[in-house]
Amino acid sequence: METFHNFVGGRWAPSRGCATFGDENPAERGSNLADFQSSTAEDVRDAVDAAVDAFPMWRRTPVSERKRHIEAFLSLLRDSREELARIVTLENGKTIRESRAEVDSALVEGGHHVHQIETFYEGSGPSAFSNRTWMQFEPVGVAGIISPWNFPMNVMCRKTLPALLTGNTVVFKPATFTPLSGVFMTKLFEKAGLPAGAFNCVTGAGSLIGHALVADPRVRAISFTGSTAVGKQIQQQAAANLTRTQLELGGKNALIVMDDADLGPAVEAAVTAGFSNAGQWCTSTSRVLLQRSIALPFLQMLVERCEQMMVGDGLLETTDMGPVAGPTQYREIRAAIRQAEAQGARMIAGEPRAPSPEPTGYFIRPTVFTQVTPDMAIFQEEIFGPVLAVCEFESTDEAIALGNRSMYGLSSAIFTRSRRTAQTYIDGIEAGLAHVNIHTGYKEPAMPFGGVKQSGAGLPENSETGLEFFVDRKAVYLRD
Ligand code: NDP
Repeated sequence: METFHNFVGGRWAPSRGCATFGDENPAERGSNLADFQSSTAEDVRDAVDAAVDAFPMWRRTPVSERKRHIEAFLSLLRDSREELARIVTLENGKTIRESRAEVDSALVEGGHHVHQIETFYEGSGPSAFSNRTWMQFEPVGVAGIISPWNFPMNVMCRKTLPALLTGNTVVFKPATFTPLSGVFMTKLFEKAGLPAGAFNCVTGAGSLIGHALVADPRVRAISFTGSTAVGKQIQQQAAANLTRTQLELGGKNALIVMDDADLGPAVEAAVTAGFSNAGQWCTSTSRVLLQRSIALPFLQMLVERCEQMMVGDGLLETTDMGPVAGPTQYREIRAAIRQAEAQGARMIAGEPRAPSPEPTGYFIRPTVFTQVTPDMAIFQEEIFGPVLAVCEFESTDEAIALGNRSMYGLSSAIFTRSRRTAQTYIDGIEAGLAHVNIHTGYKEPAMPFGGVKQSGAGLPENSETGLEFFVDRKAVYLRD
């Protein structure tokens, strides 16, 4: 069994505490892919020391050179596509096709940031009014990157590459469920020739070392993706040092289907965004709102698609949906299913009870509930699993009001042929992402990626704000 170390100041080293933790393949209960460091607050301090020491050199490194390092990293990532996709499937459970798509998405977003950085500093320069005043972009310093397990490599890249391109040094903490892809990416940064200390990786429990990273006043920016509960804790903690935060949090995303919609693509949108990554993505569809007159045919088609889906080991090319990421997810999703039944929702696809004996992996079949009302937990709470809650409505206004009856506001979608209805929805829906005839999970790197209400705070990722989050603006006044 291989044991992986932390990467601090350009060296691989064990944690000061000498404890380790394992990495289970969720398709195979009780397995262990490798051991990783259960790091301590002292390890985090060492990593921040290294990032602080490297910062003056990295910030002075010309942008063109920083860009060359990131291009080298992306080239290594391209070459490792299959190996890394396999690792993501092994430790997260998602299908190999989904893992390849995750690597591809990281490459597209990374390429976009590299392209963007060429013109980014044009916004920083002599003012139009006087050559004695200008605004200068400067890196904020050390950035803490805390990433989740659901897109263990793509989310990390989406945060880390803009931080490094803009001259910040990084301390990265991968999720405990998925440390192997984090360590693999760290090796790619090492191979890409990044100077010692520019990028550091520390593994271990978020409640301990994530907390220590946020608490360190030398860390000037925290970019986090994960649960709303932890996001709130981070924001409160960061406020003590006025550390800026970029928080990408939970969702309860609604797909609205109007009676004029093309039902085939609308059903596919529910399947794609509801069940890809076993429903474990922040922009997944979890509420399906159907105009009453098309509810029956839509649900018949949806149930048929659910029954066709092959659930199993993600490494098999024929698998449509892998296991959920681990035992905690499995328990919580099963509990949410039981609660929905107890509250009176009707299961029309899925397994009412966990199979006995328990399957070899954390498998949950695509699940659909009808007769859901807005006061039920299944309508309100993020389940983060392959579970759809269906409600019916009469009018566009009712659909939008239902869509907005949530503390979350990340993504949303409507299927309709009417431009007028689409515009009413675009103007009325409370969400960071609004899709028309496209599923809730779709995104492009040039567009901002972030939520409103309790789905996020701080500047969104991607687009120009993905870089802007990691810079300060300095107003310069010059007298000769
Ligand atoms: P968390 O929010 O707990 O974890 C996300 C990341 O934050 C992980 O790296 C975690 O480390 C770290 N972390 C945990 N506690 C702290 C802390 N106090 N300070 C700093 N960092 C911390 O998500 P979970 O993995 O527990 O998943 C729980 C639920 O969160 C899911 O069911 C889902 O609803 C939601 N979620 C949403 C995601 C999204 O994409 N928006 C992604 C992941 C989860 P560690 O892994 O070591 O605990």
